[in-house]
Amino acid sequence: MKIDSERLAANFITLCEIDSPSRREGRVAALLKEIFTELGADEIVEDDSARTTGSDSGNLFIRFNGTLEREAVFFNCHMDTVEPGTGVRVRREGDTFFSAGDTVLGGDDKSGIAALIEAMRLVRARRLEHGPLEFIFTTCEEIGLLGAKALDPAMIRAGSGYALDSSGFGRVILGAPAANRLHIIIRGVAAHAGLHPERGISAIKLAAQAIAAAPCGRINKDSSINFGTIRGGEASNIVPAEVVIDGEIRSHSGRELDELTGRVRAAFSQVIDDWQDPGGEARGRPGLSFAAPLDFPVMKLRPDDLVIRRVAEAARLIGLDLKYESAGGGSDANIFNGYGRPTAIIATGMTNVHSTDEQISLRDLTGLTRLLVAIITL
Ligand SMILES: [Zn+2]
Repeated sequence: MKIDSERLAANFITLCEIDSPSRREGRVAALLKEIFTELGADEIVEDDSARTTGSDSGNLFIRFNGTLEREAVFFNCHMDTVEPGTGVRVRREGDTFFSAGDTVLGGDDKSGIAALIEAMRLVRARRLEHGPLEFIFTTCEEIGLLGAKALDPAMIRAGSGYALDSSGFGRVILGAPAANRLHIIIRGVAAHAGLHPERGISAIKLAAQAIAAAPCGRINKDSSINFGTIRGGEASNIVPAEVVIDGEIRSHSGRELDELTGRVRAAFSQVIDDWQDPGGEARGRPGLSFAAPLDFPVMKLRPDDLVIRRVAEAARLIGLDLKYESAGGGSDANIFNGYGRPTAIIATGMTNVHSTDEQISLRDLTGLTRLLVAIITL
């Protein structure tokens, strides 16, 4: 199977050089509509998620009916890139792509998009038979998986699929943790720190006690906790009335996520409940508001799941060795798995992502394209 790697390279560069930081994916979305119309897509739908995400584009659903009786499969890439992602120019050295300047390359996730387009170009040009395909291009992945969260899961026709969105090559991600987002407010009482400190209750002191008592950092191989930001206090001569702490709890086990969230909550509650007024002059009592909503659900696939067997068979056909791994981060795949659509992540070859040193080789992009064609035509 000969891949037209120069056409792939040209298209990859074009995609990278159309800026699409989160919430400004519109130009890339417009190009994708054009390309897939030319490729004879049976259906191109933009959803109304822009109302929720604030993007200048919705998520795109592009469908090919195919001619084979197969279970439908979807492929997902996100259209947005991280900052600095404005004014991207691609530098090519031999067969490696870098950003020319002070921006990211945006191969995250345009490597996946470019390979998918090239795979489909090849499939159409050779009239290769395939089953029903669905391409789902999301917005705002990099700022909290907002596009995937805002899409209506009823719109996903395929029962399972692949997110093309991870660094390295030949890796398939089977699992990723769930996360709860922590938003904790501790309320004390303000007072003049020199004249009437006994009238106040220091929210900073209480926060320090609670954080010291709470579990934090790596808990075990599956779970971690982080207090990421802390804000509070007004001035050095005012007993601080409020502290706001934001953080996260991650775990590959949903049950452990609940349990750890309970332990963090208990540590904070206990400090507030145990507070005693030493002089009996405080003008109130401390208070706590503790929120830990689910940020993204756990992703856990088994080697015998159809979606894994399918990529394994495709890789075998083209003689590619795959490594199956777990990831530490959350991505759109967590959200799709949460929608009841088993979704594995396939690495695209990108490296040093989310930095101005980001790079990718044409060899890996070509290898990914070959794997995609094999999955599509299986
Ligand atoms: Zn990505």
